[in-house]
Amino acid sequence: MKIKSVLIVGGGTSGWMSAGMFSRQHPNLKVSLIESDNIDTVGVGESTIVLFNAFLDAMGMKDEDWMPACNATYKNNIRFTDFKEKGHSFDYPFGGDRGPETLGAWSQIRAQYELPTDSYADFCGSHNIFLARYNKNTKNKHKVLDFEFDRETAYHFDAELFGQYLRDKVCIPNGVTHHVDDVVGVEKDENGYITSVVGESGEKYSADLYVDCTGFKSLLLEQEMGSEFLSYKPWLSNDSALATHIPYTNKEEQLTNNTECTAINNGWVWDIPLWTNIGKGYVYSSDFVDDDTAAKEFKSHLGIEDVDLLKINIKHGVHKEAWVKNVIGIGLSYAFVEPLESTSLVSTLSLLGRLSELLRMYDNKVNQFIIDGFNYGSQVEMNNFKDFVSFHYKMSSRNDTPYWRYQTEGRDFINIGENLGFVPYHRPDGMALNEYERLLYHDNIGHNWPLTPGQGDGVYYLMAGMGIMPFGKIFFERYVLPQGGEDPKEKLEKIKSLYEEWQTDVENTIKYVKTLPSSHQFLQENIYGFDK
Ligand SMILES: Cc1cc2nc3c(=O)[nH]c(=O)nc-3n(C[C@H](O)[C@H](O)[C@H](O)COP(=O)(O)OP(=O)(O)OC[C@H]3O[C@@H](n4cnc5c(N)ncnc54)[C@H](O)[C@@H]3O)c2cc1C
Repeated sequence: MKIKSVLIVGGGTSGWMSAGMFSRQHPNLKVSLIESDNIDTVGVGESTIVLFNAFLDAMGMKDEDWMPACNATYKNNIRFTDFKEKGHSFDYPFGGDRGPETLGAWSQIRAQYELPTDSYADFCGSHNIFLARYNKNTKNKHKVLDFEFDRETAYHFDAELFGQYLRDKVCIPNGVTHHVDDVVGVEKDENGYITSVVGESGEKYSADLYVDCTGFKSLLLEQEMGSEFLSYKPWLSNDSALATHIPYTNKEEQLTNNTECTAINNGWVWDIPLWTNIGKGYVYSSDFVDDDTAAKEFKSHLGIEDVDLLKINIKHGVHKEAWVKNVIGIGLSYAFVEPLESTSLVSTLSLLGRLSELLRMYDNKVNQFIIDGFNYGSQVEMNNFKDFVSFHYKMSSRNDTPYWRYQTEGRDFINIGENLGFVPYHRPDGMALNEYERLLYHDNIGHNWPLTPGQGDGVYYLMAGMGIMPFGKIFFERYVLPQGGEDPKEKLEKIKSLYEEWQTDVENTIKYVKTLPSSHQFLQENIYGFDK
């Protein structure tokens, strides 16, 4: 199949991200987008992780231009409260040196000085963690702190406004043709390839490749091409959300550089500081709580009775194939995990990035072998996100409600993937079938966190935050200290001096961080000006 033209169906964030990618990176393609005026976008999605920054670079978008149009703020960290147990918080800062050597050094210091496991993020994470704790920010031009602003700071923004900005400032100026019409049917050839989509206006829209960005409905990929939907419900219970925005009462304090995630009785609540207001949402499981009770719980958590709530049904899972014949699903139409850890826009970007690379490598000419590879890789990636997110529940120690008991005691995660139609996942060393087995194997046999380069960085923040140790003092003294042929006394001296160096660095960093502008002031100085 030679692709010369692309038609995107759907004008949510995924639709306009796709249009941006095709129009900027593939000028030889004719790109059109059709969207409905009558069918709403999902209307949520406000937090990203640093991997998303690659998209902004690819689109040539500058913070000072797009951020004010999208109600955007900076995000340096994710804070999880009451996930391990009530009254406990841990941080997941962006950036830092998390290679095997740093992890090894911290593991030994931690064991020797019997530090809490969540000291991992303070040691191996970047200085972002201190910016987050003191609600300060800096571009760090003079490299006083150990973090790189451009690569290691993410964003909060209104995803819908972001889509509109892409439409007006990137896609249309780059030649994307925009149609407003409801797609009511498709026409296919004798081999099942779509030849046109039919609008309610009676107009037919044709292209070589159809990109389904119709959200959870998955109009083309699932409904027309029959790609089977594989639910993530066996791993992730949360299938419902209530979302709202609340005004700031003290912007200087409330506008932080964290996405705050707080576990409550039947799920968790997000808190995302945007520029003009705060995005709040309760993600919960309808198996454990009905919508009215959830609304009461949410309002009580917010401390506000009079608030409008948007109810969203979450369809979480992945389609067996992302790409069937000449239809590819991008965004919610292909897959969704759940809002925790903001993996959605990033996985959309990843899919688009790999598609773009394939088109470039094969000069827009693809065969079934390439499509099969794309489908396999896409599902493995989504399943990895799914595993990563489900650890947030599985590793918790909470058992104070039926919901939390089910999360932490009620399921055997290893075996539930079998026979449900998911692709098998064999790592090249053949050791682990999935992330669960990998982590459990190391914990049980190696008394160690797995040191697989480039894999599972985020899982360590999580394990540390949840109090799961790389190894304890006994293992350290018996097995780690005598290893490597070095005199154990000298080794202990080295550990001591590393520990002291670290403590001095923390002291100096905190002293410096306290002198920096607050997140709010920083945004005024760099993006919004002082009159807003
Ligand atoms: C509760 C919740 C919280 C989330 N939080 C985050 C987060 O913090 N971070 C993150 O990265 N992601 C988050 N997401 C995901 C994020 O919202 C989506 O990835 C993003 O909005 C993209 O959605 P979409 O464009 O795929 O679909 P939608 O926004 O649903 O867009 C679908 C489009 O298709 C059009 N359409 C539908 N049917 C037709 C038709 N017949 N004809 C023509 N057009 C049609 C609609 O008009 C619309 O334009 C969250 C999702 C949920 C549910």
